[in-house]
Amino acid sequence: MTVANDFESLMSGMGVTRMDDTKGRKPKASKRKVAVKSAAKGAPKKPAVKKDSERVAELERALLHIKEERSAAEAKVQTLKKRVKRLKGKLAEAELELAQPRSTVAQTLSEWGFETPDERAQLLADSDWLERVIGEIDLSNAEALKEELATTWVSVCSNCECPGGKRPLVVASDRCSICGGFDLQTEARKFVDAALINGRLRIIVVGRESSDHRQVRQWVSDKRLVLTQLPGSVRRARETVQTDTDHADVVVIWDPESVEAAHLEIYRKATRVGEISAGSLGSFLSEAAALIGAE
Ligand SMILES: [Zn+2]
Repeated sequence: MTVANDFESLMSGMGVTRMDDTKGRKPKASKRKVAVKSAAKGAPKKPAVKKDSERVAELERALLHIKEERSAAEAKVQTLKKRVKRLKGKLAEAELELAQPRSTVAQTLSEWGFETPDERAQLLADSDWLERVIGEIDLSNAEALKEELATTWVSVCSNCECPGGKRPLVVASDRCSICGGFDLQTEARKFVDAALINGRLRIIVVGRESSDHRQVRQWVSDKRLVLTQLPGSVRRARETVQTDTDHADVVVIWDPESVEAAHLEIYRKATRVGEISAGSLGSFLSEAAALIGAE
């Protein structure tokens, strides 16, 4: 009747079948299957309710677990934040340190008393010291090494004798820690003469170390003098300090910083008193002679 039917009969006459004929049947079959399945599922209704309550409990447990995990994560975040803050502080410190101008080995050694190339060569000619100096990552801040060098090496000129147990660093006489460029014999003579001529025989020399006093004694040894030598480190009773001061003709304070403050106060009230800064034996004898002989 219709054009479509005519077309189909024509096509079937040619042996061609319509494709959606087979396709069209399939959805019908699958629909039936679905229907059967849902009918089978829908049948036991009661167990489904039971599963719902189980599911709620399950979800509650899961929720609790998530909450716990969240608290743990939050605590972890707090710890990490603190750590970041600490690391940022360290970074700032390191950056500040890097920004500081660095010194060369020569500059640092010069600041430590090895002033000339020749003096630095004397130190570095010793393989042990060379290794220790070049082995420092940051020499300018190597305080322990600086301290050790200062206590081991003594600047002496070619005319002076290096104290026992020390390493001599041969320097020009004006930088000699012993004579300081002075003629020690002449200065020692001046010291004794100033005391004898002025009748100021009871002299107290206070301050510095025993080794410094030993050097003084080596040069000033006139038996007419009553020379009381008191290294700064020696502990003394306040009364003794007062008595000594009262009976002394002259009190010479050698390096005031090495004397106990309370005692320094007493010594400074002596009738004849003077202060000499830490330096060579030569400069001490010269200045002390002037103090003793002063008007
Ligand atoms: Zn000297």
